[in-house]
Amino acid sequence: MDIQIFWDRGAPQGLEIPVSRTISQVLDIPVQVFTNPLLYNGFSINRHQFDATAILSCIDTYKRRNNIESPLLLVISDDIFKPASLYIFGLARPRTGSAVVSAARLRNEFWDLPSDEKALGNRIITEGAHEIGHLLGLEHCQDERCVMANPECLDDLDHKKTWLCDDCKMRLKTLHPVCIR
Ligand SMILES: [Zn+2]
Ligand SMILES: [Zn+2]
Repeated sequence: MDIQIFWDRGAPQGLEIPVSRTISQVLDIPVQVFTNPLLYNGFSINRHQFDATAILSCIDTYKRRNNIESPLLLVISDDIFKPASLYIFGLARPRTGSAVVSAARLRNEFWDLPSDEKALGNRIITEGAHEIGHLLGLEHCQDERCVMANPECLDDLDHKKTWLCDDCKMRLKTLHPVCIR
């Protein structure tokens, strides 16, 4: 079971290959990356953000129509929220194997900090691996360095390493004994 990543045209260009490779290494699972072919909706005129749950439903529909059974992560640059949250970095729906990550707030520029491509790449890796981890059945982890830690802000996110702790690694092997190399 390969993981599929759909990289939207609006998402940071040039990072799709290194990000996908590193996510594949972190989770020890094959990852394929494609230019995003799907259209998503869910824009909230009041909030000027996209509702991530609506985006996940668009992914669900696309997967159903195209008989895609593998977990699918969409990487976009539009800012996203879920009901009851001001914003989120990403969201996963393990039941259907669909996830989305937004690079909007992963950019330093969003927070009036100097641009940092390396930090941006690392954050997309940790967030992407985190949401895919959920799709593979992993829960949140107490180790703040682990990609399955639950970040509340960019600072928390930057504490994470592009690394899965031994406990989560073991859990993943138990959950997917065949597909993990
Ligand atoms: Zn999470
Ligand atoms: Zn962990």
